[in-house]
Amino acid sequence: MSKSSNNPILATLTCDCCGGTAYVKKRVNSKNYYIHCKKHGLEQRSGPLLQAKLAELVSGKSETVSEITESLSEATSDIEANLSEPAKHEWTPEVTQTIEVEEPSRDEPIQPDSNEPQSSGFGIKKTLGVLGFVGFTLATLKAAAKAATGN
Ligand SMILES: [Zn+2]
Repeated sequence: MSKSSNNPILATLTCDCCGGTAYVKKRVNSKNYYIHCKKHGLEQRSGPLLQAKLAELVSGKSETVSEITESLSEATSDIEANLSEPAKHEWTPEVTQTIEVEEPSRDEPIQPDSNEPQSSGFGIKKTLGVLGFVGFTLATLKAAAKAATGN
């Protein structure tokens, strides 16, 4: 039967028989605690002194857990405080790097005096001129059509 290993661990103690780790457990259908040594098995004596000692261990475990939780929360807050400062330092160089990368890219179109920007500018002006001419022509045709219709 493996019922003993399924019972929850209520407390941990140093084993009386070997000095190793042992667990205080309790069966669901029993009032008595027992000690489960990982190496040497179960200590199930139900003597009142042993039961009182085990009950004290079990009740004392809640204090130990709360102490551990408090120390963990303190450690977590310390870690968060330590992490927030380096995070600020990491952000500053990122911004500086972004600016440094953008500046040379801005100089590139200015340094070469090639005809590309000018030719493209002329291309746009030509296109606008053609569109303006077409618009002017259409307006003229519309005016002529109106004049023709009016007559
Ligand atoms: Zn033992």
